[in-house]
Amino acid sequence: MAQAQKITPRAKDFSEWYNDVVMQAELADYSPVRGCMVIRPHGYRVWELMQQALDDMFKATGHQNAYFPLFIPMSFLAKEAEHVEGFAKEVALVTHTRLKATGKTGAQAVMPDPESALEEPLVVRPTSETIIYAMFAKWIQSYRDLPLLMNQWCNIVRWEFRTRLFLRTTEFLWQEGHTAHATEAEAEAEARQMLGVYRRFQEDWMAMPVITGRKTESEKFAGALRTYALEALMQDNKALQAGTSHNLGQNFAKAFNVQYQTAAGGLEYVWNTSWGVSTRMIGGLVMTHSDDNGLVCPPKLAPVQVVIVPIWKSEEERGQVLGVGDKVKAELVKAGIRVELDSRDSLKPGAKYFEWEAKGVPLRLEIGPRDVAAGQVMTARRTGGKTPARLDGIGGVVRKSLDEIQATLLQTAKGRREAHSVRGVTKQQFVEFMKGAGGFAYGGFCGSPECEAQIKQQTGATVRVLPDPEFRSAEAPKTCLWCGKPSVAEAVWAQAY
Ligand SMILES: [Zn+2]
Repeated sequence: MAQAQKITPRAKDFSEWYNDVVMQAELADYSPVRGCMVIRPHGYRVWELMQQALDDMFKATGHQNAYFPLFIPMSFLAKEAEHVEGFAKEVALVTHTRLKATGKTGAQAVMPDPESALEEPLVVRPTSETIIYAMFAKWIQSYRDLPLLMNQWCNIVRWEFRTRLFLRTTEFLWQEGHTAHATEAEAEAEARQMLGVYRRFQEDWMAMPVITGRKTESEKFAGALRTYALEALMQDNKALQAGTSHNLGQNFAKAFNVQYQTAAGGLEYVWNTSWGVSTRMIGGLVMTHSDDNGLVCPPKLAPVQVVIVPIWKSEEERGQVLGVGDKVKAELVKAGIRVELDSRDSLKPGAKYFEWEAKGVPLRLEIGPRDVAAGQVMTARRTGGKTPARLDGIGGVVRKSLDEIQATLLQTAKGRREAHSVRGVTKQQFVEFMKGAGGFAYGGFCGSPECEAQIKQQTGATVRVLPDPEFRSAEAPKTCLWCGKPSVAEAVWAQAY
């Protein structure tokens, strides 16, 4: 590991703090390709754990995984008008299939061979609705083929010039669910169901509380009828969109001619949904929980849940504490806990603590000669608090401790979110709130895109969601917080990533 660097405190520069935490925890690194990042093993393990949990939930709700091509014919993207408009400014295009030597040296040694120009350029997928529904058209004939419930784990490309590790990169990893249904009601139920799956995952696994609701017309997915989203509040009081689920209506079915024969013998277009979450969630996890010492990772998604650090001075002590360390490790492994025994001679215990803290390990067990004599270990939580624990039954004690840490992280994050949420504010209070510390502002909304645009221009805030009933204020706002006209829906506003 590279020499440990000091992490910029959150209060000094949140964005630098975030980068320091990601780099120190060895989650990701910048790559030689502008706009692209490298996910390092520690970060990739977090993603694998996320994938496993989500994949189980997708399968439990009847979805199957499949894989579709990375390349999409340009004409496919053009078939749905709103869709192509939404993605036109950020596509990567393949135009040639061969290089040709130029006789020059260095970067000019090769050029695209003009003779290999593709008749129709290929788009590197920014999302796969078009290619997937082109296949659905082939596979769906009758009502018996419905619903068709699929998911794809893959990478996608949306051109970016600014890189923000996990938050904004040209290429990122995600999953995209795609389904086809016989009726609008079924598609709507599916879009809502998957929003619920995401919420369960983000709260139970990431310990990241989210507000769910519908996007306004100006914020919805290009080509969707309705977009639902999950919004979390980060520690700098900016919102992070943590996932979306779309009811696509029949827009894509009509563009790709996905029709089915009804039980009565008629021909109908299917109703589609699509839904996705990405490696962006890792950025959300970092910004929800971490502190000035580095990453704080919820136990359920921690690559290493427990680290055992033996402490010794003499060779004799070394043998003793390592012997006990091995036994404790074996017991924790048996209890299904991801554990490391850090027996390195090259580092002092203090330096090991520092390193594992930066990497977000939720619980540390320290074993010194006196602990061995007393038949105990010292447990230290990443979030603070040290208590001795008996070696007897250590598996159960650690399990309970990890569960408590997981639950406390969610409660703490919820408390912070509520402390930075305001309701029933006047226009002036709203402007001051957004200029100041910021957070979630709940208020009436007249539904006009002009109000949205003015608010964005003057405060930087956007409507994150028109919240679902359980998040709405006890009394529905009567007027738009901006223009004072009658409110058509309550909205949650915030500055966002
Ligand atoms: Zn208004």
